[in-house]
Amino acid sequence: MRKNKLYKKIACGFLTASLTAAVLAGCSSNNGKTETPAPAETGKETAAGAEAKPADPDHPFYVTDEPKELTIHMHYWDYMAFDDNWKVFTTAADMTNVKLKGTTPAGASNSKEIFNMMMTSGDIPDIVNAQVSEIKKYGAEGAFYPLNEIMEECAPDFVKFLDENPDIKKGITNPDGNIYVIPYVTSDPIGKVWFIRQDWLDKFNLEAPTTPDEVYTVLKTFVDGDANGNGIKDETGYFGKASMEAIPDLLGLFGVPAGFYVQNGKIVSSMYMPEIKEGIKEITKWYQEGLIDKEIFTRGGKAREVMFGQDIGAMTHDWFPSTSNFNDIVSEEVDGFHLVAIAPPNAQLGTPIEYSNPGRAKLEQQGIAISASTADPKLVLRYLNFFWTEEGRRLANFGVEGEEYTMVDGKPKYTEEFLASSDKSVKEKLEAIGAQSAFGYEMDYDYTLPTLHEEAIKAMDLYSKGNYMADAFPMLAFTDEEQAIYDKNCQSLETYYFETLQKWILGAADIDATFDEYMNRMKELGMEDILSAYQAAYDRFQNN
Ligand code: CA
Repeated sequence: MRKNKLYKKIACGFLTASLTAAVLAGCSSNNGKTETPAPAETGKETAAGAEAKPADPDHPFYVTDEPKELTIHMHYWDYMAFDDNWKVFTTAADMTNVKLKGTTPAGASNSKEIFNMMMTSGDIPDIVNAQVSEIKKYGAEGAFYPLNEIMEECAPDFVKFLDENPDIKKGITNPDGNIYVIPYVTSDPIGKVWFIRQDWLDKFNLEAPTTPDEVYTVLKTFVDGDANGNGIKDETGYFGKASMEAIPDLLGLFGVPAGFYVQNGKIVSSMYMPEIKEGIKEITKWYQEGLIDKEIFTRGGKAREVMFGQDIGAMTHDWFPSTSNFNDIVSEEVDGFHLVAIAPPNAQLGTPIEYSNPGRAKLEQQGIAISASTADPKLVLRYLNFFWTEEGRRLANFGVEGEEYTMVDGKPKYTEEFLASSDKSVKEKLEAIGAQSAFGYEMDYDYTLPTLHEEAIKAMDLYSKGNYMADAFPMLAFTDEEQAIYDKNCQSLETYYFETLQKWILGAADIDATFDEYMNRMKELGMEDILSAYQAAYDRFQNN
């Protein structure tokens, strides 16, 4: 009987938006102090089946003298499937003497379905790429090999990474203390950023707003002052492309975080904070005065194309690379268009704060596991460790030295040939050779730098130097009881929250008259039980 708990949790999108995973915990942890074999002893293990890394100067990364082939299941995001010819992995084969052979059916498009079929069949390849949550679940059921038993010996570079990143180590560790997953670790320095039309600020001689009051004044000036100069009152101020996030994001200006959040050691929820009241009152006023897109709840994914392309949107909160690109995308249609990142305009809280920290390793991200039935788990793990060495990590991120990149001043730099090789984006070209995949390694965000618009780089500098990013929500581990509390209530809470939010903003309910009723209903729906469950999980996380 399979427990499906992590599944359900992830199904509740907004609640889990910043919550990520769950693992770890409890009583069995001994701070990772397993019995580490002394280096001198590890070589003796060779007789037991796995070959220690040979000291071969011609092949410093060989993990086996005899060439080996391992099978891999890797299919994710419904379109990425392992390709035996990916240059990153054929090069890794040359370097390690281990070749991979993909097992996913050609033409398959539903990653979850293929994964479930493979797991149900019981015919599990040597290496499995899947969501971290799935690996933890099936690992606990015995499908995957507990890496912690052999990783000190076989994966020193991965162990070193975990030692340097204890929160990720806690996050990937199962409640019983076992580790089944080698995560794909991302490294986006920032996530969503506040953007505003600089050319419109200039037109009215305004400074970038730093508080909600200033945002109001600026948007009011744009909307009432014909910022686009066409003689029609068609400007709309703030908008967003994600209908479930645009208003919650705006609440960030009033100190309401995104999703669950740790505030002075206490878990709080963005759906259950007194700050909502003043924030919504102000946002409702903006909406009624036309400073927010009338279609904010339904505008959808093309909002930036529409609102910037038609020269009517002033401000949004969105991912910094793609949003910065609108400076180029609409430059021909909109004369003088200049979109810039500004510090989070919530300086009234103290230091401006940006709640959309994307985190680094998450339950819903991919990771790698080793089949419990593989012939030689040590060999597999030695191979996987390669991607945690400096050279392996570079290969996984940038491709092959001398082809996709060369080293300049100690850093990879794309070659002119690679950049000019086709019209596709750098990311697409890298993906075509198996680089920047969701395999088990640490992403190096530098891969994207040459592709960033200058306004994106400025955004990154602004938010990094200002230290505006809130801490990422940690990967927590729920007990079965805590998980049951969460599963029972999350859907109804989320639904009630969004229904009420819309009523308030659209003027169908008065916030002053209904706020207490709202908070009471949230309590009835189990919000405080969920917060207690989170708090317990968080306290264990802190104490481990
Ligand atoms: Ca106008």
